[in-house]
Amino acid sequence: MAETTLGNIHKQLTAAELIRGKMRLSIVQSLTGLTIRPLRTMWKEIHNEGPSNGKLPESVLSYMVNQAMAAGISTFTSLHLRQHSPNAPITAEGLLATWSTYQRLCGPMDINAGYYALRDVRADFVSFPRCTCCDAHFIYDPGSTLTSRCPFCGHSPAKDDK
Ligand SMILES: [Zn+2]
Repeated sequence: MAETTLGNIHKQLTAAELIRGKMRLSIVQSLTGLTIRPLRTMWKEIHNEGPSNGKLPESVLSYMVNQAMAAGISTFTSLHLRQHSPNAPITAEGLLATWSTYQRLCGPMDINAGYYALRDVRADFVSFPRCTCCDAHFIYDPGSTLTSRCPFCGHSPAKDDK
């Protein structure tokens, strides 16, 4: 499809919204298709400082540093999957919609963590089972004590379901 002026403005506005949420520029770039240079300029204008250049985390598990984060990220993922198919591509619009709902209901959250959660659940890098005890879905990974238990009720599928 040919690039239209309105289409381009829409992309810029979406990018500005993502950057306002401090989404990492390489992810903004992949979600909007805009080039990195104008995105860097946009970041400086919005935040009055340069974007962070640190290494990107490998997976959503890097964000799950305490029980509150594990519960928050799982809640974010459930909210998103209520309105979007797990197999549908992640879009900037979908991500922003879920992020805004989440923040209205539950408080501040790192939008990057939300993006990684959707990406990793979609790629089956982590599983997203329903807890057999409290019925909430949660991001499960056997590698850490934080993610091997349901963050809402503490139930452990590996230990308690045997
Ligand atoms: Zn539970």
